[in-house]
Amino acid sequence: MKDIHTLSLPQLQQWMKERQQPAFRAKQLYEYLWKQNVTSFQEMLSLPQALRDLLAGEFLLAKAAFADMQESADGSVKYAVRMSDGAVVEMVLIPSRNRSTLCVSSQVGCPLNCRFCATARMGFSRNLNAYEMYAQVFAARQESEARFGHPLSNIVWMGMGEPLLNFEAVKAAVERVTDPEGMGMSPSRITLSTSGHCDGIRQMARELPSVHLAVSLHTADARQRQELMPIGGKYPLSALSDALADYHERTNNRITLEYMLLKDVNDSLRHVRLLLDFCRRFPVKINLIEYNTHPYAPYQPSDADTFRRFAQSLEEKNLIVNVRRSKGRDIAAACGQLANEKKNSGKM
Ligand code: SAH
Repeated sequence: MKDIHTLSLPQLQQWMKERQQPAFRAKQLYEYLWKQNVTSFQEMLSLPQALRDLLAGEFLLAKAAFADMQESADGSVKYAVRMSDGAVVEMVLIPSRNRSTLCVSSQVGCPLNCRFCATARMGFSRNLNAYEMYAQVFAARQESEARFGHPLSNIVWMGMGEPLLNFEAVKAAVERVTDPEGMGMSPSRITLSTSGHCDGIRQMARELPSVHLAVSLHTADARQRQELMPIGGKYPLSALSDALADYHERTNNRITLEYMLLKDVNDSLRHVRLLLDFCRRFPVKINLIEYNTHPYAPYQPSDADTFRRFAQSLEEKNLIVNVRRSKGRDIAAACGQLANEKKNSGKM
C-alpha cells in the first residue's frame, strides 16, 4: 500500500472524483494530512465514516515518532525520530533568545563519505520521503512551543544526509512547510546545506530560488577538498565555483559557506588566502564552525588562538563572518553522532 502523503492535492482531487466524492473532500483530507498532521484516518472526523474506511483500505498513513531524546546543557535538544519502517534519523532543536532553529535530516545515513563526518560511518540506507521530513518539522514546531514558549522560526537541512541527492522529496517537503495549507512558514527562514552537489545547486537556483543555500566548503584547496570530501572528485572546486556563480546570478541570494576548522589541516594562513580567493565571484557569509570530536574520525578542533586569527583575517578583508560555537557537544549533537551511538550501544 502507498502512503497517502505521497499524493499531491490534484491527485487527491482526482482520487475523490473517481469515487464520486464531492471535490471539497480532497481539500479537507489535505488539511488533515498537512495542517493537522493526524495519525489515523479515523481521526478525520469531518469525513464520513465510509470515506475514512475507504481511505484506510487503500492507503497507509505514515507516522514519525520520537524514539529518544536528549537535552544539552546549552539548551539544544536532540531527538531520534523513528519512521514507520523502523528507520531512525536524528533532528536537533536549537533555541536562542526568542527563536528556535531545527536541524532536519534528509536521508537515513549518507552515501558521501566525508572523512570528518560521523554519519558517513553508518553508510547509506535510503532517502527520506517528503512526509518524513515534514514530520520532523511538525514535531519540532510542537516541541519548540511546549518547551521554549516560542514558535519554530528557522529550519536548516543540516542533519543526516545530503539534501541535494534527494532533491524532489526535499522540494516537496519545503513546499508543504511553506504552503499556507500546510505550515505557512516563510521560505526565507529555510536553508538547504550541501556538500557541494553542483547539479543540485543549479536545480535549486531554478526550482527553490527563495530558500537559502549553504555550502559545506571546509577548505578551498582543491586537492585537499577532494581528500576530505570525496564528492570533490565528481564536482571539483572549479565546478563548485561555477555552480555558485550561476546560483547567485539567478537568485541574487548571498551564499553561506560553512568552514569547520580542523587543527593543522585547514586552519593556516594559506587556507585563509585560498578561501578569500574562492569568495571573489559571489557574495558570501562565512560560518566558522568548531569541530565536534567523535570516535569515528581522527581530527581535532583548531585551538582558540588559531580560530580567532582565522576569523580576524577574513574580517579584515570585509567578509561577513559568524562564529558557530559547537552546540550540544555534551550530547554528541554533531552530524551523525546520535544515530551512530544508537546503533552501537542500543541507546542514546
Ligand atoms: N550533507 C549536507 C548537510 C549535512 S552535514 C552538507 O554537507 O552540508 C551538516 C554540517 O555539519 C556540514 O557542514 C558538515 O560538514 C558538518 N559536520 C559534519 N561533521 C561535523 C563535526 N564532527 N563537527 C562539526 N561539524 C560537522
